[in-house]
Amino acid sequence: MTTLLLTHPSALNHATPLGHPERADRIRALNEEFGHEKYSMLAREDAPMAELGAVTLAHPMEYAEKLREVVPDEGAVRVDADTVLSAKSWEPIMRAVGGAVYAVDEVFAGKISNAFVAMRPPGHHAETATPMGFCFFNNAAIAARHAQKKHGAERVAIVDFDVHHGNGTQDIFWSDPTVLYSSTHQMPLYPGTGARNETGAANTIVNAPLSSGDGGTQFREAFESVILPRINNFQPDLIVISAGFDAHRNDPLASLNLVEDDFAWVTGKLMDLADKHAKGRVVSLLEGGYDLEGLARSAGAHVRTLMRA
Ligand SMILES: [Zn+2]
Repeated sequence: MTTLLLTHPSALNHATPLGHPERADRIRALNEEFGHEKYSMLAREDAPMAELGAVTLAHPMEYAEKLREVVPDEGAVRVDADTVLSAKSWEPIMRAVGGAVYAVDEVFAGKISNAFVAMRPPGHHAETATPMGFCFFNNAAIAARHAQKKHGAERVAIVDFDVHHGNGTQDIFWSDPTVLYSSTHQMPLYPGTGARNETGAANTIVNAPLSSGDGGTQFREAFESVILPRINNFQPDLIVISAGFDAHRNDPLASLNLVEDDFAWVTGKLMDLADKHAKGRVVSLLEGGYDLEGLARSAGAHVRTLMRA
């Protein structure tokens, strides 16, 4: 069985101001990486446009419609201190959602083992009705709810190893006993949430914060002792990964010290749990990662591990 890589050229069209870390070059770096021969066994498809109805699995329709109305005819508008909508942002936003939804459909159809969606903008900071932190719609949350609604998944585990806490995902699933949200992230750091004692109304939020300077040893320990046992007990029907690669040691936005092998390691561990509980179903979605070489090499190690399924 194969790994599906979903992306789309429109990901280059979401324009952010000069010097902004969340930039089109991130996708160019991934395209170059995945162009190498070692990825020739990947199945590749365009990330399709989502229906606006898919967005409403995690956000109110009024929020989605208002965001669409704010997209400017030219130039850009700021929706939060560091989050910008440009004239051509809507298509990549909806293809990032659509790729996530389509990846879920394909793994439940059993046509592929797992999938990686290399799209931008990212999603894990988008709360129920608030865009922030480069994010508009919460792709991972939508993927989880879609798996439940369309494919009858009872429990979904979302695992977030982006260096920033996924406050949006935590917000959306705070009171939901059917979705386990677990995260490693540097703390203190933007957005400020993600303390260990934030466990959710249904005790399905699992935060394992790391400290500035921590590396692979502490990262693996957090997974081994906290996150992996919780996922195992939860017995998910699907694992969705919020795959940010900004915990890499070269990333300019944070100060953890992960290397490519750490991302490969955690990917393998999550695949083992997916094999045990979820017929191997893993859907991984690009979040952050702002050092272009670190991003490409880390995402490469992640995808090459997915390809071993
Ligand atoms: Zn991040």
